[in-house]
Amino acid sequence: KPRYLKDFDKINIFLHKEFQVKIPSHRYLKLQEERQKLPTWEMRDQIISTLNNHNVVIICGMTGCGKTTQVPQFILDDALKSETFNANIVCTQPRRISAMSIAERVAQERDERVGRVVGYQIRLDAELSLFTRLLFCTTGIVLRRLEDDPLLEGVSHMIVDEVHERSEQSDFLLLVLKKLLRRHSHLKVILMSATIDARLFSDYFNKCPVIEIPGKTYSVKQFFLEDIIEKTNYRLDYGSDYAKRDSLPFDYHLMYQKRELPLELRPDAYLNEDELQSRYEKHRRQTVSTLARMDLDCINYELIIHLLEWIVNGEHKDLLEDGAILVFLPGIQEIQNTFEMLQASREFSKENYAIIPLHSSYSSEEQKMVFRPTARGMRKIVLATNIAETSVTINDVVFVVDTGVMKEKRYDPEKGMLSLDLIRVSKTNAIQRMGRAGRVQAGVCFHMFTSHMYQHELRDHPKPEIQRNSLEQVVIRTKILPIFRKYNAQKVLRSLINPPAPESVEQAVDFLKHLGALDSASELTALGYHLGSLPVDVRIGKLMLYGTIFRCLDATLTIAATISFKSPFIIPFKKKEEAAEKKKEFETNNSDILTMLQAYKTWWLSRAARDYHFCKKNYLSYKALEMIKTLKQQYVENLSDIGFIRKGIKTRDVQSQSSYISDGVWEITGPEVNVNNENMELLSALLVAALYPNIIEIVPQATNLSGSGERVSRTKFKTEKGEYVDIHPSSVNFQHYFKIGSFLVYHEKVKTKKVYIRDCSLVSKFSLLMFAGGKITITGSSENIIVKIDDMIMFKVRTIETAALLKSLRSKLDQL
Ligand code: ADP
Ligand code: MG
Repeated sequence: KPRYLKDFDKINIFLHKEFQVKIPSHRYLKLQEERQKLPTWEMRDQIISTLNNHNVVIICGMTGCGKTTQVPQFILDDALKSETFNANIVCTQPRRISAMSIAERVAQERDERVGRVVGYQIRLDAELSLFTRLLFCTTGIVLRRLEDDPLLEGVSHMIVDEVHERSEQSDFLLLVLKKLLRRHSHLKVILMSATIDARLFSDYFNKCPVIEIPGKTYSVKQFFLEDIIEKTNYRLDYGSDYAKRDSLPFDYHLMYQKRELPLELRPDAYLNEDELQSRYEKHRRQTVSTLARMDLDCINYELIIHLLEWIVNGEHKDLLEDGAILVFLPGIQEIQNTFEMLQASREFSKENYAIIPLHSSYSSEEQKMVFRPTARGMRKIVLATNIAETSVTINDVVFVVDTGVMKEKRYDPEKGMLSLDLIRVSKTNAIQRMGRAGRVQAGVCFHMFTSHMYQHELRDHPKPEIQRNSLEQVVIRTKILPIFRKYNAQKVLRSLINPPAPESVEQAVDFLKHLGALDSASELTALGYHLGSLPVDVRIGKLMLYGTIFRCLDATLTIAATISFKSPFIIPFKKKEEAAEKKKEFETNNSDILTMLQAYKTWWLSRAARDYHFCKKNYLSYKALEMIKTLKQQYVENLSDIGFIRKGIKTRDVQSQSSYISDGVWEITGPEVNVNNENMELLSALLVAALYPNIIEIVPQATNLSGSGERVSRTKFKTEKGEYVDIHPSSVNFQHYFKIGSFLVYHEKVKTKKVYIRDCSLVSKFSLLMFAGGKITITGSSENIIVKIDDMIMFKVRTIETAALLKSLRSKLDQL
């Protein structure tokens, strides 16, 4: 038994005795009453008896029916009855915030404090003790634990919650558990899920039993976009003319009676009733279809506000008069915008409405606001992302407004990067959103897409994260975990619930080798290990680690954020020349990325001087710059989580000593990791570290004789894969003359009429030799020394000593 289990049995006996003599308090009894009303409570005996006979059980039930808070307690209480119990339950949660708040809630229900029998553990924070027998933790924590405790010794029950979310980590954990079950016959695995995709999971675990918890909900009326338009008399030109709307009454029925038609519908004198009717219908259909086809990028805030006003004004006699309203929005920015619009509206005064934004990045205190009942006469309007679909239950919701869109992280093969995209929800999301109304009484749900779109266009389920992501992180994880280490990644990943294409796995493995995360025998390197614990794209991760090691953290973080987001430069269609002129002012080192860095730095300085017109004047996107700033902060957190930097050195002196005032990152990380921020050669070299093998070589085109007989040599750009490309006109290196044999490192390759390199940076051969991942070989004799990298890149160096010295430096660096 591991050391931490030494006193396990003794403590168990103690806990059993304590359980026997427990005197329930008043509060305990009150909560007990609430618990007994939950649908899950009825299934108590069935759950326990099924678990006695099977190793894997799936429990399905509507969100809020009591799975998360009750099932672990059923198991715990059943165990505590016996003196020789051996229960040690771990329950995973997809988010930190739920692990903490559920542990708190469960401890409360048991009249105990968190950290004793019921505990939680998340990255960098834990409340647990030798007495803890029910631990709520994030999925990431279990995956970490498997590194040192590959068989999960001492764990009796592994509960994986919210499996329907299909997060990469949870799918991966299921893969691990499937394998563990073969060795560890005492382990009980419980999968809990909100929707009814149970078959998939049951098949995955040898047709294990599924327990369905019958839902106790009220009916929810469902309205689609066409119904919304009709019911609320929404007019398309409200969007443009919203402010004057009050003076523009538009009621189809009323106008129909009065024969007051919008200009474009005015009937000729001889229209009969039917024809008139059909004109109305046509106009309405046009409105609906225009709205339905609106660009995904622009959320129709007017329609949202219009609908909310309509709901609260209670014009609708057939619907409900009261109850909280839950609005589903795609992201934090949209929540913010809607929040501001509601606050600015006279309709939604502070006295009568509690407007509560809800997002996973808010603190747990802020999140708790949504549970609190509002003062009498106040109405709650919650603006949330899909976190309110399954993770957070707000009991008093009666109206749901589903904007029909959400944000999803997707791997963009063109960019070779993850991006966060706005997409339409799936049917599962829509149904789940609808179900959030009608928890305490009948409810209403408004979907902002047509019923036709619902039937024919929405996909059935959201795509599992593992199918949207690049596979590098998953491959690294198979290399980190002892139970998989012996096998190749291809073989391990084949047993995932939705196995990725073999080619994609192979590509990921190859890429990791080029990056230096795997060695030539596919073993994990030290770099690979650290990349595995950074929750970012592996290239960004490498740049962050190297930036720390080479003490140019602030600059590398700006670069990392720019690469993973986008360039802050904007090129207005009509002002291309002016924009290009301005960009020239920031140009540096034949590098697009370093030019962006320069722009960011300058912006930051002007910001300190509160020059808000700076962006406009210089054709820079304020939004992009702000986003880069936010990402940088997040990277600092990530690096400090894995102990690469110390956070919290906040000194005013650092700033005054420094040559350039940096943003918060500098203050947070301190001077020791920031001495080389101005060293452009170093920064270019680190671009190689991050972006290799994206390298172009300048090669000669056929040399021809011009009219005067002079030799004119022209150059071409050849990529590491041997294809010829062009430099994009927006690049600082466009039409620049480079010496033959020079190298450029690039990030993005786009294909339009030609294949273009969008951004590139001139790099020296030595930085390639030092920082390109992959295998370096040096051949030739004193006159002709050839350096080869991965058999893709080849160049000469002058002396064998230089080459040898660089090679030995290089191997030192690799060991760092
Ligand atoms: P499920 O996991 O099936 O979605 P839960 O076990 O999370 O359901 O929740 C059961 C009930 O307990 C819900 O009705 C919810 O409103 C209530 N509840 C859960 N957490 C809290 C909390 N922190 N404060 C108050 N009520 C809560
Ligand atoms: Mg739950």
